[in-house]
Amino acid sequence: MTTTTTTNDLATQPLGLPSSPRPMRVVAAEDNPVFQSMLKTMLTKWGYQPLIARSGTEAWRILQSEDAPRLAVLDWMMPGMDGVEICRRIRSANREPYVYILLLTARTESQDLIEGMNAGADDYLTKPFNAHELRVRLHAGRRILDLQEELLKAREALRDQATHDGLTGLLNRTSILEKLDDELSRATRAGTPVSVLMADLDRFKSINDTFGHLAGDAVLREAAHRLKSAARRYDSVGRYGGEEFLIVLPGCDATQAAVQAERMRDALGATPFSTPSQPVVVTVSLGVASSSEGASETLVRQADTALYWAKADGRNRIALHSAEPGHATCGRALMPDVC
Ligand code: GH3
Ligand code: MG
Ligand code: MG
Ligand code: MG
Repeated sequence: MTTTTTTNDLATQPLGLPSSPRPMRVVAAEDNPVFQSMLKTMLTKWGYQPLIARSGTEAWRILQSEDAPRLAVLDWMMPGMDGVEICRRIRSANREPYVYILLLTARTESQDLIEGMNAGADDYLTKPFNAHELRVRLHAGRRILDLQEELLKAREALRDQATHDGLTGLLNRTSILEKLDDELSRATRAGTPVSVLMADLDRFKSINDTFGHLAGDAVLREAAHRLKSAARRYDSVGRYGGEEFLIVLPGCDATQAAVQAERMRDALGATPFSTPSQPVVVTVSLGVASSSEGASETLVRQADTALYWAKADGRNRIALHSAEPGHATCGRALMPDVC
């Protein structure tokens, strides 16, 4: 089997590609040592970082590894696992990012081509192949991979936009409520508690009125950051509405939730916020509700009711909604000692 390498020619000329900051890694699987070294030399010369696999099994191992190369040149005929089998396995795993596969083979029948492409190969080159042809085909593959990467990034950005609040970067209302649903389902199965905090900045309208809407936005961003920093790693913080935040505390009963609510209150009120003109103290009121079962709507409504009590009692405080007998009169437990 021979390969035509047109050394003095097109195969060595620049393709006019933007030079990538890091050479793209290519797995090249070939059982013939002569082709192995030929592929290694050519790929390196063309600016790729080749990973030579001496068998299909070795190539499959490389392609399964974390951060595997996304470009593969696979010989069809190899002992053990052949190139077509690798194609099938990669495609049936349906993983992302996409692996672009170019099959190399001595088989020339159109039935062979159909089999290779049906197995999931993207392109096909028959041996002996022309080095320049391999180079441009690899480049075409690379272009497709670049496009796919852009597409994935755009999809990721869209997903982020759909689930997060643009101003604060917190989960948006829909996402934090979904999170609460998930945690309540889990808690119902496991028999563990879940608590929610409904937090509302006190007299926030006066911040806007005094310092302007932009300063108000900056305060909201900073408040979100402080709430998130005060949360535990497994808590979720979302922007529920204008200056209202919903915090989901998995595994927290009412007493633990009250401690968390206190931390949040302190995270905001204890240190003044900076505004363009002067530092300003921003306080928050929080309503707390706990449950190990039931509907998220009920829990949110209870936290909202408790928040209303905290506001009515003078703000900058927390209030617990409790269904426990001790608080049965109106299900109300205020925490005046912390005010
Ligand atoms: P309370 O202590 O009763 O909660 O008083 P408050 O002033 O915080 O409540 P109110 O509901 O009267 O006002 C909320 C204000 O929050 C009014 C609204 O303009 C402001 N707000 C809501 N969303 C945003 C936002 O995204 N940016 C800014 N700058 N202000 C916002
Ligand atoms: Mg072979
Ligand atoms: Mg409000
Ligand atoms: Mg408010």
